[in-house]
Amino acid sequence: MTETYSAGPGRYSPDAPASEALFRRARELTPGGVNSPVRAFRAVGGTPRFMVRGEGPWLYDADDRRYVDLVCSWGPLIHGHAHPAVVEAVQAAAARGTSFGTPTPGEVELAAEMVARTPIDQVRLVNSGTEATMSAIRLARGFTGRPKIVKFAGCYHGHVDALLAAAGSGVATFALPDSPGVTGAAAADTIVLPYNDLAVVEAVFAADGAEIAAVITEAAPGNMGVIAPRDGFNAGVARIAHANGALFIVDEVMTGFRVSRSGWAGIEAVLSDPEAGADLFTYGKVMGGGLPAAAFGGRAEIMAKLAPAGPVYQAGTLSGNPLACAAGLASLRLADDAVYRRLDETAGTVGKLAAEALSAAGVPHRLSYAGNMFSIFFTDADVVDFDGARAQNVPAFKAFFHAMLDAGVYLPPSAFESWFVSAAIDDAALEVLAAALPGAARAAADAGGAS
Ligand SMILES: *Cc1c(COP(=O)(O)O)cnc(C)c1O
Repeated sequence: MTETYSAGPGRYSPDAPASEALFRRARELTPGGVNSPVRAFRAVGGTPRFMVRGEGPWLYDADDRRYVDLVCSWGPLIHGHAHPAVVEAVQAAAARGTSFGTPTPGEVELAAEMVARTPIDQVRLVNSGTEATMSAIRLARGFTGRPKIVKFAGCYHGHVDALLAAAGSGVATFALPDSPGVTGAAAADTIVLPYNDLAVVEAVFAADGAEIAAVITEAAPGNMGVIAPRDGFNAGVARIAHANGALFIVDEVMTGFRVSRSGWAGIEAVLSDPEAGADLFTYGKVMGGGLPAAAFGGRAEIMAKLAPAGPVYQAGTLSGNPLACAAGLASLRLADDAVYRRLDETAGTVGKLAAEALSAAGVPHRLSYAGNMFSIFFTDADVVDFDGARAQNVPAFKAFFHAMLDAGVYLPPSAFESWFVSAAIDDAALEVLAAALPGAARAAADAGGAS
């Protein structure tokens, strides 16, 4: 293939020749040159940087350029890159053997740590967030004997067929209303509602309540940009679902063990209530410490329906992999109250610096937090749902993104993603950030972002 890359006008990055060459080769070997779409930079144009090394708050690309990392592998790396305790745990586990296909002590330790921190009674380990939500939905359907699932527009739950309707950043970025290959049958039992609107949840249950197995939501959405649930929204959904005999599934793949030691449930206590809270939770990202691990868990009575204890089938050759469990356990054991205080403070500082720079350049924006996750919407209206998120000025974000990248700050390459901080961000990293922001804010203004 000799196609010339043209997704972004004039963004050929002469300063990234090694990434350029790697990307050319990658596109010959892999569709779009990447193994997960958002990495291809299509939403911002230009050449994705091929990273070769991470250290604390820094990423280093194939051209040996250094970046402050505000993506953190899309959330998992709350302690920064290559934390010595995590690296040591993985090396020690690898030296004992990489996989046995049997139960292992590490799985018991990781499960115990998760159960101690969260509202769940029991947990099943899987390999990705997609697998976690897919399995939680199967379990909810098996438990209730009902077919339908309610989800919210802009919430992403992985690329599960039945959940790929109105699924946030990937969809927003690639403008695919649905994915070809998802059959009508797979999508027919999915009901998509606008986020943060309890009245429509009431209405859909009034119409269809006896058919609905579960409502699934991101605990606090981070996949349409960050949008916190309105006060009482999650509790209201739980109440309506339970009044109709349906389950409430809270997807904490992004928020879990990131926004507090127990995830969003640690911020919104009602989620832990056995009656008024969630029935099932899904986890991923942080709990794997940068290796592939994810999980779902919940009330013992529901989890008891899962094979081999019960009839709902679920399995995985590499589930509970010893390296992934070691990395996850080391990460969680490091994640004490001091780490969460530091993440909160750093998120506050980074957001404030960015907002000040944008204000100084006259760029309208909304800084939107859910715990220590946040994003900046390039708009002058409050954003409470996916339609609001989509109304932002994407060209202004693109210009901002590239100016930050050129100045050594790696932001999520899409206007519809959360920014993620790590506890490794130090004064040196904050100085690079502070130096990059004024120019990037001016670039956003020049791209039409100024009011
Ligand atoms: C990342 C994410 C997923 C999917 O996890 P993968 O490991 O990428 O399959 C599911 N739900 C939420 C909320 C996520 O942020």
